[in-house]
Amino acid sequence: MSHCSTVAFANSTPMKIKYHLGLSVFALFPGVIVMLLFGSWQWLLVTVILVNLIGLFRTSFFLAVSFHVLKLITKLSNEENFTAEEMVITLGSEKTLRKLGGTVPASRILLLLPHCLQWHECKVRITFDPYNCVRCGKCPVGALLDLTDRTGVKIAIATGGTLARRHIKESRPLAVVAVACPRDLGQGMLDAGKIPVTGVENSRPLGDCLDTQVDITLVENSIKQLLSSK
Ligand code: SF4
Repeated sequence: MSHCSTVAFANSTPMKIKYHLGLSVFALFPGVIVMLLFGSWQWLLVTVILVNLIGLFRTSFFLAVSFHVLKLITKLSNEENFTAEEMVITLGSEKTLRKLGGTVPASRILLLLPHCLQWHECKVRITFDPYNCVRCGKCPVGALLDLTDRTGVKIAIATGGTLARRHIKESRPLAVVAVACPRDLGQGMLDAGKIPVTGVENSRPLGDCLDTQVDITLVENSIKQLLSSK
């Protein structure tokens, strides 16, 4: 998967399969206990099916369970990929849009950006006031400010999870459109708990955390899908 291609309502079938794979592995543990209690392997099957059926509700709890199982599988298989994070980003975004799509006033949407989008030589301080940016065009921040001007959504820039949580607490949004790398985005969406988030992955042509980029059209689409028409 390309690093900048995630947007809600992209084809989510592969991620759904991975989500249920995580749930099925998790269900083996209670399944074995039930099987031993009732003395029949069929109870193992029943438990796995039941967990997956309840998992269709895709609550934050089940997303987190599947996330941690998938993380463990990737760790054990020694693979460096973001399967677990991408599952959370895709299915979490889809859930947010299904629940809130077309209903959120612009003033209650927060566009939350990572500080690494800012050009590393820029001296302007934008974490406490993004509007200090003079929109010189050397990084995507200026174009994202133009986007907030056009749509009326709020914008905040965070250097990490603590500041992101503070921005969310202060803005009290009904929905967040978050841009970040898969690692931060996946974990951040789980940490957000009840706050609905749609996620857009940034791209990292120079490596992690340095002059990252984001597809403005993907961000704009995410905002527009949430916006109420009133
Ligand atoms: S657009 Fe220019 S002024 Fe604004 S943050 Fe990027 S480099 Fe700095």
